Amino acid sequence: MKNVLVSVMLLTILQQPDIPVINHPPVIPPSTGNVFIITTDGLRWQEIFTGADSLLINNEKATPDSDLLNMLYWDSNPETRRKKLMPFLWSVAAKKGQLSGNRLYNNKVDVANAYAISYPGYNEIFSGTADEMISSNKKYRNPNINVLEFLNSKEGFKGKVAAFTSWDVFPYIFNEKRSGLLVNSGYENGSENSLTQEIINGVQQEVKDKQATRHDLLTFACAKEYLEAHQPKILFLGLGETDEFAHDGRYDLYLQQANAVDRMIAELWHWVQTTPGYKDNTTFIITTDHGRGSKTNKWTSHGAFIKGSPEVWLVMIGPGIEPLGEIKEQQQLYQRQLAQTIANLLGENFDPGQPVGEAIVLKKKETVLPPSEKDRTVAVVNDVRK
Ligand SMILES: [Zn+2]
Repeated sequence: MKNVLVSVMLLTILQQPDIPVINHPPVIPPSTGNVFIITTDGLRWQEIFTGADSLLINNEKATPDSDLLNMLYWDSNPETRRKKLMPFLWSVAAKKGQLSGNRLYNNKVDVANAYAISYPGYNEIFSGTADEMISSNKKYRNPNINVLEFLNSKEGFKGKVAAFTSWDVFPYIFNEKRSGLLVNSGYENGSENSLTQEIINGVQQEVKDKQATRHDLLTFACAKEYLEAHQPKILFLGLGETDEFAHDGRYDLYLQQANAVDRMIAELWHWVQTTPGYKDNTTFIITTDHGRGSKTNKWTSHGAFIKGSPEVWLVMIGPGIEPLGEIKEQQQLYQRQLAQTIANLLGENFDPGQPVGEAIVLKKKETVLPPSEKDRTVAVVNDVRK
């Protein structure tokens, strides 16, 4: 009896109806030829949707030159403010794509893992599972299959998948040794045979006091060089400095970096939209691995016990994404739904053996009736009401 009770209790705990873990066959036809996934580590939804925080931008310790940062990023209107910080997101993605995660509208995107730190977050994004055994940022080889290696094993995508990341733990997160994925991480040289690559590699060698996270601009430059030469179908650009500056307690540098990330995305989008094969055939998925403390005195940190850390955001833009802009209705998405979403966008079903979160049901415009018919419908409804 006791055992039965325990089983029932366990079953109850395991059955979390609000977090779907189902392996579905693909429900949508391929809507894009290429997918680029771009992450910027630990950038909060608060900055994405409401721009610079007035308390932090005017705090001498977090923002040594408040005047300058106010001039660059402040406005009393949050919609103007966020556009100053992330102009690509709010002038292009907001018109042509979808932005989810503004909790002011009860529109939520969360990590499903319990830890709200980087390795568990990236594992969740790419393997589609919130694995409780993945609990630290140490360099250990991930046993989970990720969607990039899964796609890389498929006809049509083989050798057409590449990852460029600032953080040097990614070769372990993607288990490069097992997966055979192309992962360029940390201060690893790029292998293109070009003068530009030679210069980038030279600059990388000159960087003093190298840390675990390469400067994002160098990561971006390596990725661009690879892109031009090999034209992959799936690219992961993993940027990391937003998290580094936040841990340092420098809100000014954190904002500057968020702004720089927006510019890199804009440049990448411009390249895509002016390159045959990519134009109107590429979807961008832009997100982060975790949130951070929501309180003014906790924003620098994140983790299981820091309120706000599981709260993330998601921006999608591309041919399969209807241009609905900021999603302002109640919704709950999870980070672990992204792996299957990526596969589905490319017409594949991610079925790696481990349980995988089901794909996001992409929002569609309501069927808009022509005005005359719409008027008639309204008239009929009015008649009924009478
Ligand atoms: Zn961090």
